[in-house]
Amino acid sequence: MKKLPAELFRDFVPELFVAAGSEKREAMIVADHLVEASLVGHDSHGLLRVPKYLNWVREGHLLPNQHALPFVDSGALVGLDGGFGFGQVIGLEAMDLAIERVRRHGFAAVGIRNSGHLGRIGAWAEQLANAGMVSIHFVNTSGFGILVAPYGGIDRRLSANPIAAGTPGPNGPIVLDIATSATAEGKIQVARNRGERLPPNLILDANGQPTDDPVAFYGPPAGSILPFGGHKGSGLSVFCEILAGSLTGGGSSHPQNSTAGRLVNNMLTLAFDPSAFGQAGSFASDVGQLEDWIRSSRPVSVGGEILLPGEVERRTMAERQQHGIPMDAATARQILEAATVLGIQPPGELVAIG
Ligand code: NAD
Repeated sequence: MKKLPAELFRDFVPELFVAAGSEKREAMIVADHLVEASLVGHDSHGLLRVPKYLNWVREGHLLPNQHALPFVDSGALVGLDGGFGFGQVIGLEAMDLAIERVRRHGFAAVGIRNSGHLGRIGAWAEQLANAGMVSIHFVNTSGFGILVAPYGGIDRRLSANPIAAGTPGPNGPIVLDIATSATAEGKIQVARNRGERLPPNLILDANGQPTDDPVAFYGPPAGSILPFGGHKGSGLSVFCEILAGSLTGGGSSHPQNSTAGRLVNNMLTLAFDPSAFGQAGSFASDVGQLEDWIRSSRPVSVGGEILLPGEVERRTMAERQQHGIPMDAATARQILEAATVLGIQPPGELVAIG
């Protein structure tokens, strides 16, 4: 697959969002987030999303130039309404506020409701870890995001609700970033765009039969994604709905939700100063000992190694910063079509792929 340098997209993608109505700052924030998601290897939440976000703006589902507005503020607990704006801006502003509140109170609970797609949720855990904080984030998605069958079921009832968690670590932030579905929906899109089959046990077709065909997921009639880990992933997903959706007022993934006609992410972030429980001296050394202990396990295969959450992403980023972001022809074409609609001249290197 052809590879293109991240800088090409950092220059070009903001032009598209500005043409769609975003202020320059917003366009740069959204582009940076998407480029970074591609750099760390989460293509499903990277440049693939550019045409999708632009479509949502055109259809009025996603509103440019919104900000995170408090609807509850009791010090350590803050509720923010995203006004259906770009999740990259709403998430950034919410995490900035979380950092400020953690510095003041030792911990913070920040709920976001009615945000546009918050993208790669690990980015928010990283932002807090880079500020020296420990956090966990629960996200749900209403509307277009209802894609996942509950454990034992066939029909789409839950979202691909992600959970992320982060902490400073001895070798850089430790960041877990997972969907509670067996795969993120974007990865099915990536496979469809590349004409590839999926690994087994990720999706069902419309009749509830296991399939590895990404086309069978989209239908019509549409299939569903399985939860990861059977009843365990399904149960975590239910609590993403409740913590991120029901508790914040953004609502959970059911058709009576007033936001069911658009893609909305809600997120509950719980963040802590590592010294919140009086463990300032021992926190870092304990995490360091844990990391060493985990790594000391014998690998399953000869030459194998034990990785901590977040390491794969760091390695992929280093590799892609050096060699470029892989870009398939279908994704390139979708971005080029969006550029044509907006009257923006795309870079020749992208045209050559699409
Ligand atoms: P995934 O299955 O690729 O898992 C990623 C996590 O597993 C990371 O923490 C990574 O460091 C860790 N990991 C991967 N390989 C590892 C290894 N060999 N050893 C140890 N740890 C390892 O991720 P996913 O579930 O497909 O989610 C992909 C992305 O989709 C995430 O960024 C997520 O936030 C995003 N997402 C967003 C939404 C939304 O509504 N905004 C919904 C679903 C998913």
